Amino acid sequence: MTASRPLAVPVHASVPTPFPPYTLRLPEGEALPLICDSPHSGTMYPDDFGYAVPFELLRGGEDTDVHVLWQALPSVGATLLAAEFPRAYIDPNRDVDDLDADLLDGPWPTPLQPSEKTRLGIGLIWRDAGKNSMPPIYARKLSVAEVQSRIATYHAPYHAAMREQIEAAHARFGAVWHLNLHSMPADSYEGLGIQSDPPLADFVLGDRDGTTAAPEFTAMVAEALKKRGFSVAINDPFKGVALIARLGRPAERRHSLQIEIHRGLYMDEATRARGAGFDALQDALTQVAREIASYVKDQLK
Ligand SMILES: [Zn+2]
Repeated sequence: MTASRPLAVPVHASVPTPFPPYTLRLPEGEALPLICDSPHSGTMYPDDFGYAVPFELLRGGEDTDVHVLWQALPSVGATLLAAEFPRAYIDPNRDVDDLDADLLDGPWPTPLQPSEKTRLGIGLIWRDAGKNSMPPIYARKLSVAEVQSRIATYHAPYHAAMREQIEAAHARFGAVWHLNLHSMPADSYEGLGIQSDPPLADFVLGDRDGTTAAPEFTAMVAEALKKRGFSVAINDPFKGVALIARLGRPAERRHSLQIEIHRGLYMDEATRARGAGFDALQDALTQVAREIASYVKDQLK
């Protein structure tokens, strides 16, 4: 029965900052070196954001509910870290030098290396809500101190928590598997400025063209999804960004894989409300989580 299903995750439009940047759920029962994170599902908007667009536009950047869809992970032995702050405020899936100097009221004290993401307006600090037709998020320049504070209060602790969990697992087991969990808008190709004949897949797995995870791990996750009826693409159009680039080193038995879910499978993108497919998707991902846990267990033998 779905009668008790909430229609939407709670959203908090103006939360006094600072607040704890993430929630960390530890394994229930036997722990596995399976560390998962949802960097973009945060819905607590800091009260010093100072944006100048309608709130709903900012919410378009959220991977709303991803940590809820994958909520069973700790029950299979995995660790699940989820950001509480929204990516439109500061994006934990970007390096700190992937910053647009034009957003700032003064010079940044260290060299910047803006990437393609910054060019698209979705670097460390977003310029607009991710689409060319969108108005700028700010009607002001951001102070250097303000951006430094966002890094120190939210971005840096998130990365420190990830690093701590990954390193502890690797030290204990000699290997670690990381799932970087996201969801993607139905018009992702359009947003990226890419022409594609095939429609966006239900799931897109990203391993930065085979460099951040063993191919057999990526293939195993793809198969677990396909046999439940989902279409799966690899690295098209999302290959994975800062988090998996930093953590994925298969030669050291550190495997990092990005998983993007098509938002049409579980939400109404106009309202962010959960759709009719939410429960079925959550159940399917619980089974997929079990299969991934069992793969990880086998690798440790
Ligand atoms: Zn995301």
